Amino acid sequence: MEMILLNCTVYDYENFIDKAYLVIESGKISQVGRMEDLRDSLKDKHDVIDMKNRFVMPGFVNCHTHVYSTFARGIPLKVAPEDFRDILEKVWWKLDSALDLEAVYYSGLVAGIECIKNGVTTLFDHHAGTAISGSLETLRKSLCDILGLRAVLCFETSDRFDVSACLDENLSFMSKQNAKSLGLFGLHASFTLSENTLSRVSEVLEDRPIHIHVAEAPMDEKASVEKYGMRILERLKKHNLLNENSILAHCVHIDELEADIISESGAFVAVNPTSNMNNGVGLPNTKLLRRHSVSFVVGTDGLGFNLTRDLLNLFFTQRLLLGQGSFDLEDLRRAILYSYSLASTLFEKNIGRIMPGYVADLITFDYATPTPLNKENIFAHIFFGVWDRVELKDVMVGGEFLMRDGNLRVDQDEIFSRSRKVCQKVWRRMGL
Ligand SMILES: [Zn+2]
Repeated sequence: MEMILLNCTVYDYENFIDKAYLVIESGKISQVGRMEDLRDSLKDKHDVIDMKNRFVMPGFVNCHTHVYSTFARGIPLKVAPEDFRDILEKVWWKLDSALDLEAVYYSGLVAGIECIKNGVTTLFDHHAGTAISGSLETLRKSLCDILGLRAVLCFETSDRFDVSACLDENLSFMSKQNAKSLGLFGLHASFTLSENTLSRVSEVLEDRPIHIHVAEAPMDEKASVEKYGMRILERLKKHNLLNENSILAHCVHIDELEADIISESGAFVAVNPTSNMNNGVGLPNTKLLRRHSVSFVVGTDGLGFNLTRDLLNLFFTQRLLLGQGSFDLEDLRRAILYSYSLASTLFEKNIGRIMPGYVADLITFDYATPTPLNKENIFAHIFFGVWDRVELKDVMVGGEFLMRDGNLRVDQDEIFSRSRKVCQKVWRRMGL
């Protein structure tokens, strides 16, 4: 739809324009200006929407998540997990073994709806399950075709699964990039990948980026050192897997040498502080990452799909961990900007600014400010005043409304009702 949004308050983490208008044509922003400069002739050619001073900002990019975690909500576990390995064995590996393609499809719809309601317009998913072949196409169908999100998908190659099938699924999906979806090469984590498997991946990878868990818990590093005599990043480097724009999720327990290896590679670290706290595995050290010029971005790791909760928690936990002066809003703003530059590079589109030539991936909300707001303090208003209780009105991807005035374009009640039935089958297959 060609449209013009009037009376917007525009902020894109760089520029702030009060009383602005936006023109959206062919899915992209074609003009941004001040209301006083708006030509009347523009209004004749477009659908005109009065935003009534709503804030308009770029949608979020969730840089590491697991859509398949959808059916873990309220799961009736018989025994509580005791440590990280126990969480994997008693929850995640049982759950992913029970997912058929129908369950994958509904997890995509439910997780995608959660993304939209939380303003996430692009997500990086890390998928696993014993139904391997066709799983990424199934996710594309629910997340991108039905819901309209942008998604970067991959399958977690692991010795737990049929490795040949994992390789085929990743390669097949990576060959079919389009405007809304693309593939990275997925790997679970060093401790479930043998030397033989890493060699096989290395043979087919070429210069494509990988998406892998790294040093989420101490046991991942311990296993690498005990079995292979080297740290995880040394091992990945030895197999030539660290291509530019790869995503290394967590990196909670890496050391200085490993931070250097990441920095040289041009890979990104995706931190997930809320999940780290929930699993009791420690927290990432962003001071170490910054000291070695490692770019970090933020994800939710499948613990819900509200990225702002992880942005808030990153700020607070880093201050707790490192001291108040060691992490500020500028560090957080930079992490958000990195997420846009990563998505822009991979999709070969301009994502994350409100400027001509950028895709119209936007969120809107009302905000009544109780204190003066200006170019200098706007990010503090967003962080302390908006993200604390996000109530989005509109969510748009490529100029299409996925949610308008708080109403989704799909029937959530119908989808959730079917999802509950699919979930019962999944839990039954898990023996619960
Ligand atoms: Zn993860």
